[in-house]
Amino acid sequence: TAIYRADYEAPAWWIDTVDLTFDLDPAKTRVLNKMRVRRNPDVAAQPLRLDGDELNLARVLVNGAGTSFKMDGDQLVLENLPEGSEPVELEIFTTCAPAKNTKLMGLYVSEDTFFTQCEAEGFRRITYFLDRPDVMAMYTVTLRASKAQYPVLLSNGNLVDSGDLDEGRHFAKWVDPHKKPSYLFALVAGNLVAREQKIKSRAGNNHLLQVFVRPGDLEKTEHAMNSLMHSIAWDEARFGLSLDLERFMIVATSDFNMGAMENKGLNIFNTKYVLASQATATDTDYFNIESVVGHEYFHNWTGDRVTCRDWFQLSLKEGLTVFRDQEFSMDMAGSQSARAVKRIDDVRVLRTVQFPEDAGPMAHPVRPDSYIEINNFYTVTIYEKGAEVVRMQHNLVGREGFAKGMKLYFERHDGQAVTCDDFSQAIADANPGSPLAQHLQQFRRWYSQAGTPVLKAVGQYDAAAQTYTLTLSQSCAPTVGQSEKLPFVIPVQMGLISASGQEIALQLQGEDAAQATLSRMLVLTEAEQSFVFTNVAEAPVPSLLRTFSAPVVLDCEFSDAELLTLLAHDSDPFNQWEASQRLGLRYALKAIADSANNTLTSGQSSTEILPAAFVQALRDVLGNDKLDAAFKDLVLTLPSEGYIADQLAEIDPQRVHAVREAMQLQLATALQADWEAVWEANRDTGAYQPDHVSAGRRALAGRALTMLCLNAAQTGDTVWPGKAYQRCKDAGNMTDRMAALSALVYSASPLAEQALQRFHALFQQDALVLDKWFSLQGAASDRDGNVLPAVKALMKHPDFQIKNPNRARSLIFSYCNNAGAFHRTDAAGYVFWADRVIEIDGFNPQVAARLARVMDRWKKLAEPYRAAARSAVERVAAKPNLSNDVREVITRALAD
Ligand code: ZN
Repeated sequence: TAIYRADYEAPAWWIDTVDLTFDLDPAKTRVLNKMRVRRNPDVAAQPLRLDGDELNLARVLVNGAGTSFKMDGDQLVLENLPEGSEPVELEIFTTCAPAKNTKLMGLYVSEDTFFTQCEAEGFRRITYFLDRPDVMAMYTVTLRASKAQYPVLLSNGNLVDSGDLDEGRHFAKWVDPHKKPSYLFALVAGNLVAREQKIKSRAGNNHLLQVFVRPGDLEKTEHAMNSLMHSIAWDEARFGLSLDLERFMIVATSDFNMGAMENKGLNIFNTKYVLASQATATDTDYFNIESVVGHEYFHNWTGDRVTCRDWFQLSLKEGLTVFRDQEFSMDMAGSQSARAVKRIDDVRVLRTVQFPEDAGPMAHPVRPDSYIEINNFYTVTIYEKGAEVVRMQHNLVGREGFAKGMKLYFERHDGQAVTCDDFSQAIADANPGSPLAQHLQQFRRWYSQAGTPVLKAVGQYDAAAQTYTLTLSQSCAPTVGQSEKLPFVIPVQMGLISASGQEIALQLQGEDAAQATLSRMLVLTEAEQSFVFTNVAEAPVPSLLRTFSAPVVLDCEFSDAELLTLLAHDSDPFNQWEASQRLGLRYALKAIADSANNTLTSGQSSTEILPAAFVQALRDVLGNDKLDAAFKDLVLTLPSEGYIADQLAEIDPQRVHAVREAMQLQLATALQADWEAVWEANRDTGAYQPDHVSAGRRALAGRALTMLCLNAAQTGDTVWPGKAYQRCKDAGNMTDRMAALSALVYSASPLAEQALQRFHALFQQDALVLDKWFSLQGAASDRDGNVLPAVKALMKHPDFQIKNPNRARSLIFSYCNNAGAFHRTDAAGYVFWADRVIEIDGFNPQVAARLARVMDRWKKLAEPYRAAARSAVERVAAKPNLSNDVREVITRALAD
């Protein structure tokens, strides 16, 4: 049953203090929960209803005496508590079975170690509680366990006592000095080792930083620790926010549903975002670790100190914290060019994942109005679009103004559970007169209206008057439950460029020339508005939505020549890149439309899809010494199949795939000599450092190698596959090794099999590297339908474990997202998908629901895919005892 934001009511009871004692045992853990509760005087008197889930209740005492209680579904209801405002002492004794907890929510065991995951509603799987974020309590936690098996006992806050007990057991007592909602509770118990670092904050306080991992992994924690130290320094420097704890701990586990979790003072991470060494981690892994460590650390203020009133406000902490981690990564990247590369990466995720979400059955506003299962709303809309909504506020008040707004936000709300409206109010109030303050009510539509707005731009040059009139208009398609959309506030950062590539001074009609700048922000608030620029000496090319200043689709009729001008000359690197993508997309769509008449199948077409001028422009980019390698790599990346498909009313995935492959092949062939030069110039980056400049060179060299192998596959050349094979053997770092292996796999080289075997033999002890090995094979290019049988065989591989989320994702998810191999005319890919969703739902609904979302957009598929997809989705829907998680996703997918 659905829960509605409009139904929010303040809790009838508060919990002031919680004293938890755990007797940890994998089969049966005993939990004694002593709470001091009191009635909320602002709410009419009600029974106390405590949430629980899969708990065994042994005893309930009220003020030390037995009491009557009843169960209402999963809730424990206490109806006869004393009246009045006096606090009541509750004692609840329950047991649970961590070893059997395959959902990985609540208290579970991974590799003989206890972990918890409580966000969003996992704490109720540990004890009965008011498991909602607006109930904040002070926690004291005592852990007791076998000392030999669980030498390390951790919980939130400060260690205040520890010692030995009878029968080889020991204990540790932790007190968290900050009150917190239950979703931030954590405990860890096991045989772990820590990298430690003592630091002094700007304020002069001493802190102990610890990164806990399994014995043997310690040497892979240096980068995570450095990332943590950088995060701490950055938050102090940029926002004046200091670490508020004596001790800050990160613990890594290989069984984790998501990326990481910001539990107060005790962050728990997927090993994927902690462990790194040159031999086992790629540059991307290094950057992701820095970003996720930052993200979780930044939550300490944006999430933990100020939290969410209810789960509809999830983006309050997630959108803001993603914005913060993006800014952190950009500041760490240093150069303007590296910042732009990070921005482009973020926008690619938004456009290839969030835009489709916003146009599909799971579309929801950044602040949703209802949900059935909150775990389904940890989405790219809440996170990434939420970050864009924060970024627009940042841009509307300026960098300094935003810092003032954040300061006011903490002055007002520190220690509270608040709403998205509270946040935007603080940013606006700190910046009176700003466009945000002027349009705050309207701006908030970004939180309430789902869907991606389309921004249409039409320019008109008047040579006689020397004016350029830019007319901007906006619209937004209906989404589930929202048929009418009101205009958004859209900040449009823009410039004008002359045909020769010069930036033109921007002088709006009525302004004096002195105010003219080369780039400025227009704020569109109406359905349509015109802006007239004066003193424009020649017809300009507009550069619109610079830095992607709003999460919209820009609809502007550029000619090829205009886009080539922007690609060559725009001073905004984002728009330079964007011009290349628009051109690539344009040619892809045209080829898809043309091929609807012909029959173009994978690998078969030698049609020249890309015109010579575009290929030449890309050659110029590759050969331009002024551009960074990472940027070149992005410009040479064609729009993804998903992004191309997203533009079509009806999708034939095989046609999209074939066209994009043909474009790749054309780039491989036409630029062969350029790729060779790029390879030579970038293949050796010296002693390994995961910095942006050398990482960019490795990325570009890797792309060159793939292109050269792709070309070799056509010509029968064996030299380049041979070089790739050699590199798989002797690369000095995982980035180069993976790039070489993937070049062989992607080009379907006869050497691929042998290289994969070698790679496996070398890394079979390393779980994260094995994930890469599985994932590469799930994502391999399909030749005569060979990928699915290979995936099925890999599921029987001794190293495959479906219950481990990372491993399941590495093989099953990577296959189901491999469009060319997944969308089969014999429907076998969809059958496989349905089987796996049903199988995984039996033990881990959250992971199953993520997999279920692969079919979100089945209705857009062309026949015969559509009918086959429908029956697969319907088969999942028909499964008895489907979890709420999967049911919500599937019901939405089937709804009209
Ligand atoms: Zn987060």
